[in-house]
Amino acid sequence: MKTILCSMAACLAVLLCGAARADAPDLVVFHTNDVHGHVLPEERDGETLAPGFARIETVVDGEPAPHLLLDAGDVLHGQPFATAHEGEDVARLLQMLGYDALAAGNHDFDYGAARLLELRALYSLPFVAANVARRDDGRLLLPPWVVKNVGGVRVGIFGLATPMTPTSTHPRNVAALDFGAPARTFAAARKAVAALRAEEKVDLVIALVHLGSEAYCWPSSLELARAVPGIELIVDGHSHSELAERVGGALVVSAGEALANLGRVEARRAPDGGWRLEARLIPAAALASVTPEPTTAAWLEARRDAIAAEMDATVANAPFALDGRREVIRQRSANLGRLLAAAMMRESGATAALVNSGTVRGDIPAGPVSVAKLLEVLPYGNKVVAVEVSGAELLAALRHGLAQPGGGAFPQFYGLEVKATRTADGGLRPLAVRIDGKPLALKRRYTVAIHDFLAAGGDGYAMFKVLPRRTFGTLDEALRRFLASASRGELDAIDAAKVLQCAACDEK
Ligand SMILES: [Zn+2]
Repeated sequence: MKTILCSMAACLAVLLCGAARADAPDLVVFHTNDVHGHVLPEERDGETLAPGFARIETVVDGEPAPHLLLDAGDVLHGQPFATAHEGEDVARLLQMLGYDALAAGNHDFDYGAARLLELRALYSLPFVAANVARRDDGRLLLPPWVVKNVGGVRVGIFGLATPMTPTSTHPRNVAALDFGAPARTFAAARKAVAALRAEEKVDLVIALVHLGSEAYCWPSSLELARAVPGIELIVDGHSHSELAERVGGALVVSAGEALANLGRVEARRAPDGGWRLEARLIPAAALASVTPEPTTAAWLEARRDAIAAEMDATVANAPFALDGRREVIRQRSANLGRLLAAAMMRESGATAALVNSGTVRGDIPAGPVSVAKLLEVLPYGNKVVAVEVSGAELLAALRHGLAQPGGGAFPQFYGLEVKATRTADGGLRPLAVRIDGKPLALKRRYTVAIHDFLAAGGDGYAMFKVLPRRTFGTLDEALRRFLASASRGELDAIDAAKVLQCAACDEK
């Protein structure tokens, strides 16, 4: 049987394309973005959520056409596998897969710009960015582009980082860097396109960008396509979008998030000298039957096990039991909810913090706390986000969450004191709110710590969706740092604090 003889990846490509095409592509561009450390295979209830990088390697290596492998940013930080050694294991993996170019995502700066440069040097990572300069001497931090000769095609790939980077990683990570005003992003792109065409004499220009395509992304990859001519393909990341859209003369593609898809673009020379591009996303489920590349798979498993062992190490101490049980934390203020909120305040310098109780998935017994325990209780990898809200918006958020005891939206908070009453339908309604010891002023603006899920309007908190924001570290990192640094007196005060008063809600 012919299918047994061909490589798994080649078979898969044929299956996914429906039928083998008469005209083979001149070039295939594989792309990933916003992987956020999801490099191991992930499954839930028999469904493949992420295929793992070893399967991606099989597919890419098995591609018969000349090909490139690109990542559009946010790959180095996210899961414990990535964060355990500040991106080192993912960096090595990117090198093993032979990525041809990488965009610098905001979260690729999460360990600091110096660490990004260190990993780049250690693993020869081809990061590109035409719009990130050092403040001291104005030189570019990274090469603006790379040129690749693939199957006789000269491909120029230039990079762009989002000008939103300084507000979407911790500001201290990029203090020495200038990401430019949004308008300068286009100027940098025009300059790169002109140089690639005139000096590098490339046949095809790819913009590998971490800009995003949603309304909050400025400038977005779609605006880039409209504003800067001469780009055939824009490979985008940042807004976690699934995208294959023709805008102006360019095709703009993005493969979602967390390795839920592998992007694949076929490029064919047109008779007029231009290019015909065709994009498709290969979903994780379609990759489940691919045989993982054995060397990479074995390495991944060994590293996963080693990191799991490190995860069992003690990193903090809980002086008393921290209650995060579902039946408690979704009904009233729980000490783990208050402690988490206090840790978020410390992390961000905010006046108060609010978190939906669905974020917390268990309790922490008194005594030594391991990394694994922190991640079990806070499994989502959410990041602390500081938003500027009016008193009215904060009150709207409290009303929204308190109305739904039993649900994941029910709020845990600190830096706030709420007197509430029980409504006829069993919910709570705030009667009086104090913040920072004073009555909440509806028109005043306050800095409040939430997390990225709520900042995206999650759990119905739509009032947090459009606010200016600054992003900090993950919740588990914040809680670990707080447990290690807070005094016993501070922790006891949080344990004893009555931040939500209501006769009916204090009942045990
Ligand atoms: Zn991003």
